[in-house]
Order: sequence, then structure tokens, then C-alpha cells
Amino acid sequence: MEFLGVEGESEKLKAIFLPSITKSHLVPLVDIARIFAMHGVDVTIITTPANIAIFQSSIDRDASRGSSIRTHPVKLLHVAGVPEGVETINFSVAGDIAIKLLEALGKTLQTQFPQLFHQFKPDFIVSDMFHTWSVDAAAEFGIPRLIYVGSTFFAHCVMDSLERFEPHKKVDSEDQSFLIPGLPYNLEMTSSQIPERFKTPTDYSYVMKRVKESEKRSYGSLFKSFYAFEGPYEELYKTIMGTKSWNVGPISSWVNQDASDKSARGHGKEVEEGWLSWLDSKQKGSVVYVCFGSMKNNFSGTQIAEIAHGLEDCGHDFMWVVGEIDEGQSRALVEEFEKRVEASKKGYLIWGWAPQLRILEHPAVGGMVTHCGMNTVMETVDAGLPMVTWPLYAEQFFNERLLVDVLKIAVAVGAKECKDWADFGNEIVGREKITKAIGLLMGGGEECEEVRRRVKALSEEAKKAIQIGGSSYNNLKDVIQEMKSLKLEKLNSKVEEPVA
Ligand code: UDP
Repeated sequence: MEFLGVEGESEKLKAIFLPSITKSHLVPLVDIARIFAMHGVDVTIITTPANIAIFQSSIDRDASRGSSIRTHPVKLLHVAGVPEGVETINFSVAGDIAIKLLEALGKTLQTQFPQLFHQFKPDFIVSDMFHTWSVDAAAEFGIPRLIYVGSTFFAHCVMDSLERFEPHKKVDSEDQSFLIPGLPYNLEMTSSQIPERFKTPTDYSYVMKRVKESEKRSYGSLFKSFYAFEGPYEELYKTIMGTKSWNVGPISSWVNQDASDKSARGHGKEVEEGWLSWLDSKQKGSVVYVCFGSMKNNFSGTQIAEIAHGLEDCGHDFMWVVGEIDEGQSRALVEEFEKRVEASKKGYLIWGWAPQLRILEHPAVGGMVTHCGMNTVMETVDAGLPMVTWPLYAEQFFNERLLVDVLKIAVAVGAKECKDWADFGNEIVGREKITKAIGLLMGGGEECEEVRRRVKALSEEAKKAIQIGGSSYNNLKDVIQEMKSLKLEKLNSKVEEPVA
């Protein structure tokens, strides 16, 4: 990891960062903010107290090491329909409340923006894609707005193709496959694998339409992967959008260097370390790690039981992040299962939040079963681990195509239905499919070795990308340089203004 150097206070470039309130958007944007600060930018991250609590310890550590970075809390305005005290979107917040919560945060920040602008005097802002209002606010105050759009160039190219050509409307049934037009690689999907909003307009379709419009009017977009991961799609996206964008990842390993940073990431406090001694007792590459992201708690009881049986039958050691399972979801069955696998030493269950970055870098871990959330995918690729893909919702089925068909670093479990993130519906992936996919991944056959070799090579590229001269390092340097030039232009134009 290399830094771009720190400047004197007077010419310091100042930025405010406005993250959103799902962990999958909050965590990476905070990481990006920290990278900017490590490279000499003065950074203020503004959000609500409960969200700040998730990452404050990392900010304090960065500040104590010389980064000019801080948080600034804002009190969430009350919006009808959002229960008092709810500030973060998680598995227990229903979809309609989530949209209202996004509105509430947007309203809060928008209302306070003039005062925040005068207090922090930013030269530019970086906002999460959901703060669409901020493109106009930035324009009003004469500063550039960079947008963090989440996901990958690849997924955005697929989404653009679906919106533009609507291939899913030209098939006879939900499970008939179609080609996604206009991509550098022939990719097929079924209509059942794409999010509902592409088929029938929903509230979320309108939200995403506004996001895209605001992206087009922004100074540029920031992405969190790296060139070797999806270069052709980066080029394509730039052509499609006609806007500037910079890929600055993989961000998590760029900033989260300490064990304590890694352990507390996305959670606010370190998780107790029973998981570590269990992994320490295992042989190199022998454990499959299973985690379905921050919304993992929406599986039905039947599906949870199938996962348990699949893991027990697969013949490999496993670590499964079960999250918070309630009685209705077969908690008793999972507790029983836990006792059994603890006794046989075959498995370890994590209830609640897992220190994922630390688990992925442990030598005992040999592969991961993932829902294809893009943060997890990036972290797993960075760690050089192959994956079993089990997409659930949002753009995860698109990511699966990139991992399985294009990059060939993963084995698909065979999930067929794109779900609502707040309700995983009725599809059940049976234990046989789970056992088979894990067997292929961990079994050590010829095909599996090829997959491992490819993902290791990509992991090397990921590490090079953030070193001096690497693609992401250069992109970061470029975007910071552009922000500096814009600041200078502005200063010069003020100096040249005629005196009235
Ligand atoms: N994560 C974690 N522990 C958990 C669950 C998730 O550290 O128990 C982190 C994971 O490392 C990733 C993020 O939370 O950085 C989840 O984002 P992702 O895009 O993978 O999935 P999403 O939550 O959007 O479904």
C-alpha cells in the first residue's frame, strides 16, 4: 500500500462524504473516504449517530496516525412511517420503511447542507448514489459532486442493457434464457434471475431512475473494484454513460490494515475470538466459509435446514455465519446442529456478525459460499479464494455471471430466482445442490485447481492495482488531481474578479 503524500494545511483539499444507511453502501464509502484522507485530503464524514458508531473507531485510529479525518453527526428528521430510533437499513427493516428511511436521511442532509457547507467549506463532495439531491446542492454551491454507485461496472453494463433492449420481455416464460445484448461477452440469464423493477415499475424503479439521472449530472463516479477484474466493462460503461469514472479498489485491503480495523469493520466493535482458535486448529485450505452478507437473516426455516444438511453432508470443514435466527426459522434445529458439529469438530457457527476480512485471510480457509454481494466478492477475490455463488437479490445474479462465465473463478450452486432483499420467498436450494457445489470447489479436482489458479492470479492483480503505478492507485491520484485543479481554477477566477 502506498500513499500519495500529505500537503501543507493551507492548500489542503477538503471533502465531505455523505454515505447511505445500508451496511453494504456505508462500509465501502467510509473505506473510500479513509483512502482519500490517507492521501492528504481533509475529510469529514456526515451521517447519523447510530451509523457513525459502526465505523468511528477506525476514524479515530486513522486520525491518531495523522490523517485529517473526522465524523460529524446529524440528527435524523422524523418522517412518517419510520419508527423512532431506526437509523440503519438491515434485515429487520421492511422494504417500504427502508425507502422512507432513505428519504429521511436525504431530507436531513439536504436541509442542513447550506450550514454544513459553510461549516466545513468543502472543495468537493462524495455522496452515496441514494443522495440524488446532492448533485443540485453541489451545483448551487459551485463544487463538484462525485457519486459512489455501489456494485461493479459489469453489473451497471448489464442493467443498462436490460433497460435499453428489454430482452427479458421477448421470452415466453420466466425460466427461458435470453442473451444480454451489447456486452463484450455472450452472457445468458433468465427473467426469473433479474430484479422485479426491470419487469414492472416499482417505487424502487423510480428511485434508481433518479440515481442514474443524478449520476449523469455528477462530475464523475467512483467504483470499488480494479481494472484486471472488469476492464472491458469499465471501458463499455464509460462509453455508454459518456461520464467520468474511476475504479479505486479493492478498497478494503487498502485501508483496513490492522487486525482491530478488520475485526470491527461494519460492526463497530470487535467480535470475540472463538472463531480464530477453531480456524487455527484446521489444516491449510481445508475450511469452506459460508456467509450471505448483511441481510442473511431472511431465509425460511426450510432453507436454513437444507443449508445445515448440505454442510453436514459435504464432507468438508465449514464455518457458517448464521446471523440471528428466530424460533420461527428453526432456531432449535440450528442449535441442535451446532452441538453436533461442534462435537465432531466439523463446523463452527457464528451467530450475529462475523469478522469477515479476518476470516478470509486465515490460511485454513480454502473457499467461500457467497450470495455475490459485491463487497464480499471483492474481499474474496482479494484474498485469492474461489467461490460457490448463491445469488439472492439485487444485482447479485449479474455478479454471478461475471464470476462463473467471464472470470471463471466460481462454481454456481444453481439458484434460479432473484428475490426481494427483505423477503427471500419460496425458492429452496436443496442440500444435494449445496453438497455438489462445495464438493466441486473444495474437492481438489483438475477443474477446481484451474479455478484456484485463476483467482490467485486475480488476487495478485488486485494487490498490484493499489501499489504505486497500479491502476487503482493512478485512478485515485487522477481524481484527487482533478479536484485540486478545479479548486485552483476557482481560486484563480476569484482573484481575477474585477473590484466593483
Ligand atoms: N460482513 C461482515 N460480517 C458479516 C456480514 C457481512 O463483515 O457477518 C461485511 C462483508 O465483509 C461485506 C459487507 O458486510 O463487506 C456486506 O456487503 P455485501 O456487498 O457483500 O453484501 P450485502 O450486505 O449488500 O448483501
